[in-house]
Amino acid sequence: MSDCLFCRIVAGEVPASIVHETETTTAFRDISPQAPTHVVLVPKLHSPDAVALAAAAPGVLDDLFRAAGEVARAEGLADSGYRLLFNTGADAGQTVFHAHLHLLGGRQLGALA
Ligand code: 5GP
Repeated sequence: MSDCLFCRIVAGEVPASIVHETETTTAFRDISPQAPTHVVLVPKLHSPDAVALAAAAPGVLDDLFRAAGEVARAEGLADSGYRLLFNTGADAGQTVFHAHLHLLGGRQLGALA
């Protein structure tokens, strides 16, 4: 989708600090990090949110989690721990309607609101 920000990052049309890439997934540093490590993992396939992605291409969801584990290892978070989350819908704070998995770590994270 040409008007989707994350599709444009995946296509290389919008610059991003890419930390990991697979056949189905692109992972890049969040522009407004909420923790010392804040990486966004994005399926190359456009889908508006994680639930829609699970319906359309469940294997890609598996790939996202596999890639998250690799990013966590590369960032030195595998032992200390990290948070993986999908904001789904406006009330959850989703602002970019292309499914994406947040990976946050590098500090003690508070309870979820
Ligand atoms: P959401 O709020 O939809 O769950 O997450 C969207 C995330 O994308 C936010 O954490 C936001 O900071 C990040 N973001 C928005 N625009 C850009 C951008 O142009 N580049 C990068 N790297 N991250 C972005």
